[in-house]
Amino acid sequence: MTDVTDVKIDDLPVRDELRGKSPYGAPQLDVPVRLNTNENPYPLPEPLVERIAERVREAARDLNRYPDRDAVELRTKLAEYLTKTGGHPVSTENVWAANGSNEVIQQLLQTFGGPGRTAIGFEPSYSMHGLIARGTGTGWISGPRNDDFTIDLAAAEKAIAEHRPDVVFITTPNNPTGNAVPRETVLALYEAAQAAKPSMVVVDEAYIEFSHGASLLPLLTGRPNLVVSRTMSKAFGAAGLRLGYLAAHPAVVDAVQLVRLPYHLSAVTQATALAALEHTDTLLGYVEQLKAERDRLVAELRGLGYEVTESDANFVQFGRFDGADGAHKAWRAILDRGVLVRDNGVPGWLRVTAGTPAENDAFLDAVRELKKERQA
Ligand SMILES: *Cc1c(COP(=O)(O)O)cnc(C)c1O
Repeated sequence: MTDVTDVKIDDLPVRDELRGKSPYGAPQLDVPVRLNTNENPYPLPEPLVERIAERVREAARDLNRYPDRDAVELRTKLAEYLTKTGGHPVSTENVWAANGSNEVIQQLLQTFGGPGRTAIGFEPSYSMHGLIARGTGTGWISGPRNDDFTIDLAAAEKAIAEHRPDVVFITTPNNPTGNAVPRETVLALYEAAQAAKPSMVVVDEAYIEFSHGASLLPLLTGRPNLVVSRTMSKAFGAAGLRLGYLAAHPAVVDAVQLVRLPYHLSAVTQATALAALEHTDTLLGYVEQLKAERDRLVAELRGLGYEVTESDANFVQFGRFDGADGAHKAWRAILDRGVLVRDNGVPGWLRVTAGTPAENDAFLDAVRELKKERQA
């Protein structure tokens, strides 16, 4: 018998493209102030918790049956939410939902990417786009950005013309940098992508509720290769729920059903999301507070002499920290003061999520001390 205690991933017959790679891994550390994964800091209000319990109890009575495979009631409510807030009429047939927008993106890449195909993103951006591309066997192309983290349109158009990707990701507001992509840039990239291939353009609006600007949902008119993806993880304060969704031409919704697992969205998830959508007004009430706190973080960090990237999201990118591991050292020093922020590997920069006023004060105290130490 061979000794199997030392078997590692690479001893298994895993796919070549997974060898030597690391999984997504934002640290989940037990510290007093956690401002590292862009969650909403406010727990769900008690009446909503009650309503979730009620709806889940109802759903529990039918758990011997498979859930609604097409999640029609949920998609209808999501469509109503988008119509009300997105400046564009959206109906049930335009909406698809899955376990987090990560699953939505995975289904999109399974449908429109895959072996022999490629996807492009403009980096630094949401690392999961590239990771999900890898997981689905889709080739990944890292497109350029300017030094101020805006998209370099000419360079982006050139990259699209040259690589002719099958899927183009545009994250607006962008994560981890925080800045929004102008509507004209998205339009130009859509045109470039159609001229080159044509390809699908996925606009990831995970943070749109925090933006100063409007949703790009109205661009769906007349653009069947455009997809807007959304999530209940951020503005809705329901990261634990795992509910993401997309809006697009009904043909896109039909297409992703070719790859979705049957009954992928559990009856419990659907019931919980429906309860949350009954309380949209309360949930989005927190968004205004968080936007104000985000603006306060920007102003105070600038006041302390930090550089800050313009933010339309519920987080702020700040720097610059000199040296190859300057950002990581600063991350560690802030953590030593009980505050967990995010080191996304963008050289010289860190990202902090807007928390409660008290959490943000704790963070600001930590970076104030850091600044003093460096000047001492
Ligand atoms: C957080 C985030 C998501 C959300 O993922 P979920 O799977 O819905 O939790 C999607 N896109 C971006 C850019 C994000 O930052």
